[in-house]
Amino acid sequence: MRLIDLMKPVIALIGRPNVGKSTLFNRLTRSRDALVADMPGLTRDRHYGEGRVGDRPFLVIDTGGFEPVAKEGIMYEMAKQTKQAVAEADVVIFIVDGRQGLTPHDKTITDFLRKSGRSVMLVVNKAEGMKYTSVTADFYELGLGDPYVISAAHGDGVSDLVIEALDIAFSQRTEEEEPDSQDRGIKLAIVGRPNVGKSTLVNALLGEERVIAFDMPGTTRDSIEIAFERDGQNYTLIDTAGIRKRGKVFEAIEKFSVVKTLQSISEANVVLLLLDAQQDISEQDAHIAGFILESGRALVVGVNKWDGLQSDRRDEIKSDIERKLGFLSFAKFHFISALKTSGIAPMMKSVIQAYAAATANLSTPKLTRALIEAVEHQQPKRKGSIRPKLRYAHQGGQNPPIIVIHGNALDGVGDVYKRYLEKHFRETFSLVGTPLRIEMKSSK
Ligand code: GDP
Ligand code: GDP
Repeated sequence: MRLIDLMKPVIALIGRPNVGKSTLFNRLTRSRDALVADMPGLTRDRHYGEGRVGDRPFLVIDTGGFEPVAKEGIMYEMAKQTKQAVAEADVVIFIVDGRQGLTPHDKTITDFLRKSGRSVMLVVNKAEGMKYTSVTADFYELGLGDPYVISAAHGDGVSDLVIEALDIAFSQRTEEEEPDSQDRGIKLAIVGRPNVGKSTLVNALLGEERVIAFDMPGTTRDSIEIAFERDGQNYTLIDTAGIRKRGKVFEAIEKFSVVKTLQSISEANVVLLLLDAQQDISEQDAHIAGFILESGRALVVGVNKWDGLQSDRRDEIKSDIERKLGFLSFAKFHFISALKTSGIAPMMKSVIQAYAAATANLSTPKLTRALIEAVEHQQPKRKGSIRPKLRYAHQGGQNPPIIVIHGNALDGVGDVYKRYLEKHFRETFSLVGTPLRIEMKSSK
């Protein structure tokens, strides 16, 4: 799973048990590995997968079945799974069973979906060998328009359905992204597992400041972005699941959403990763950190709840961090208390510094000079009889900075030498707080 792909449209499969959701899920994802199979404790009964039609990738969420037991039970399960999936989705594919016909539960689900404000596609499954008019007749009563007709088992109608879903998702997104032209300052995402103190930190950041909150109701993503200014710097806080207040429909949602966390990361310039100093670094912390690294976003780490810790514990957590999150050494760590609002100003300075590094303009002459310096100081090793020749460098991108090195026989440059170059560029251009990518382009 590549983070670069995170802006892929998200399609949720909703419906009663046995209507064919898993069958459709498997067809769409062709049993690729579930997206977050390696994030234990997060997915529970929801499955995330990647699919593709033509060259258009998407994410799909399968919401296992919710058992129609007591009324309370259904609502409870819906709150836990279906609601979460719906909240994360751009488009909901609502599947009903063409062989069984309309059931009362289909109506309950319809009511809920209508309140969610999401785009819903009503899909009649198991329709192989059946006439459109007879298999769909029952379902007009739901008031969701002309149903789509498919056979998940046989594949009939499935790719047309997905193409239509992607078109809907795409049209919604372009609408959403339009007001993007104004200067939003540093786009900041505050991420971390539940209870590390994200909401507390947001309050600390916004509480004392003039806050302009613009909620964008009815948008596909339920996005909320908060613009704020602090010490003369403009920021836009990117929504993170668990920070914002939820509307009525989504009240019961779990606080932590994988997809939303990943999307927040991919929309941000700088990610502020919060850790809880009172707890050991967990696998979940490391996974989120790994995603940030892969995304290439600039990073600042806040080790929160530093207040009232014994010095033994402080040493303990510091070495725990070093052991488990050593791969984040390019980032600055700050020991803070969101609750007591201490340590926040220096941390925000690091945010600005990381942003500056991530978006720095590195001119070709300066990069080339730095490259030549590095090579003069230490040559790359020969590979066989050929020594790679590094000639010049230019900038290939920002946030993260990409440095493209041109020359000959560059395939022979090993990882150790690449790390040496990275370090040299980092030091030369004071690139603190951002990942840095080095690419080699051989002219033969
Ligand atoms: P889920 O509980 O909604 O995930 O439903 P499943 O995907 O497990 O499917 C329930 C049953 O319906 C299984 O026995 C499937 O083989 C069957 N099924 C799924 N799709 C189709 C279809 O397109 N046609 C027919 N005839 N059966 C299907
Ligand atoms: P979120 O789930 O990441 O948004 O976490 P919250 O902001 O809701 O905080 C979870 C709990 O940790 C709450 O009880 C907070 O009062 C507490 N908390 C947050 N920041 C601090 C801190 O700096 N020090 C201490 N001691 N507790 C904190």
